[in-house]
Amino acid sequence: MKKIILSLGLAALLLGPAAPAARAWGFLGHRVITQVAIYELPASMQAFYFRHMAELVRLSTAPDERRNQDPTEGPKHFIDLDHYSEDNPFAKIPRGYDEAVDKFSADTLKKYGTVPWVVIETKNKLAAAFSARDTVGIIKYSAELSHYTADAFVPLHTTVNYDGQLTGQTGLHALWESQLPERYLNAYKLNGEEAKVLKDPLASIWGVIQGSYGFLTATYDLESKVSKGFTPQTKYSFTHRFGKTQRRYSDAFADAYEKEVGGQVAFRMKGASPMVASMWLTAWQEGGRPDLDKLMAPPKLGKDEKDQLTTQLKAWKENNLANEQLLIAQQKQQRVIAPDEIKAADGEATPPPPPEPAATPEPAAPTPPAGPNVKMKVKTKGPTGTDKQKTTPHW
Ligand SMILES: [Zn+2]
Repeated sequence: MKKIILSLGLAALLLGPAAPAARAWGFLGHRVITQVAIYELPASMQAFYFRHMAELVRLSTAPDERRNQDPTEGPKHFIDLDHYSEDNPFAKIPRGYDEAVDKFSADTLKKYGTVPWVVIETKNKLAAAFSARDTVGIIKYSAELSHYTADAFVPLHTTVNYDGQLTGQTGLHALWESQLPERYLNAYKLNGEEAKVLKDPLASIWGVIQGSYGFLTATYDLESKVSKGFTPQTKYSFTHRFGKTQRRYSDAFADAYEKEVGGQVAFRMKGASPMVASMWLTAWQEGGRPDLDKLMAPPKLGKDEKDQLTTQLKAWKENNLANEQLLIAQQKQQRVIAPDEIKAADGEATPPPPPEPAATPEPAAPTPPAGPNVKMKVKTKGPTGTDKQKTTPHW
C-alpha cells in the first residue's frame, strides 16, 4: 500500500502538479478588482452587475483556470516589451494589432504576448454581447475583460524577466501579486475613481502597460535592497507537497518587501478597478447602451439587494470593504478547489508524507546592476525563447 502511495506521489512529481499560485494578481487580486469595479459603475449598469456579482467574481479567474487546457491562452496575459527593445519598446511597437503583425508577424506577437490586443478584442466581444442583449455573453466577457485588463496592471507582465528568473530573484512574481495582496489587503485603499467612457480604449490600455513597465526597475531593485537584511535561511521558506519541495519568499521577507514596494502593489490594484469599470462602460456604450434592467429577472433589485448594495457602497467609499469582510474573495466557501486537492480528498492520490527538509537554500540573490531600467537584466534571453522553461507560469 505504501508503495502504491509512493508511486502516486512520484507520478504526481513527474507529471508536475500545478505550480503554486503565481497567477496574475493571484485569484484574490482578480476577484477583488472585479468586485470593486462594480461599485464604480454608473447607476444605469450597476444593478445588473450587482445582481450577477458572485458570478462575475467567480469567472474573473477563468482565463487562468483554462490555461492548462488551452495552449493559446497563455500569451493573452502578458506582453514581453523588452523583447522588442531594451531601450524604448514603446517607440518600436505599433499600438494597433494589424500594424504590429505587419512589422513583427502574428507568430512573434503570440510568442511574446498579446495582452493589449486581447483586452480590446474582449471589449469588442462584450460590446457585441450588449448589442445582442446576450446576458450570458455579457457576464462572461465582462469577467474576462476584467481579468485581462487587470493583468496589464502588473509590472511583471511586461517583461521577459517575469519571475525575476534572469536576475536571481525567482519567485518575485508570486511575491508581488499574490503574497503581498494576500497579507496586506486590509491596508490597501480600494475606493478608486468612477468609470468613464474611454475615447480611445487602445490608447488607454497601452497607457496602463507603459505605467506597469515603469515600475519594473523598482520591483527588482527593492527586492535586492531588502535582501541585504536577510540570510538565505531567513529570506525563503520551503513547503513540501507531493514529494516536491517548493521555495517561496518567507513571510518575514514579504513583510519587509511590503514596506518598500507595497505602495506600488496597492496603487496598481487600486487603479485596475476603475479601468475595468471604464472598459465595461465603453463596451456598453459601443453596444448601443441597452437597458440592462430589462435583462434582469426580476427587473429591479429587491429590497434586500438594495440594502446590501447600499451597505457595500458605503464600505467601499469609506475604504472598509476588507475590514468588514465584504469582499467575496475573503469568503472561504468561494475558493475554487484545485484538481489536485479534489483528488486528495477522494483518497485517490494521497500525498506521501513530506520528506525531511532536504533542500539547501539558494544563496541570496545577487544585486542587480544599477540603472534606470531593466535592459541589462534580460540579456540571457535567446532568440528562440528557450529560456522560458518555466517553473512559474507567465500569466
Ligand atoms: Zn492572467
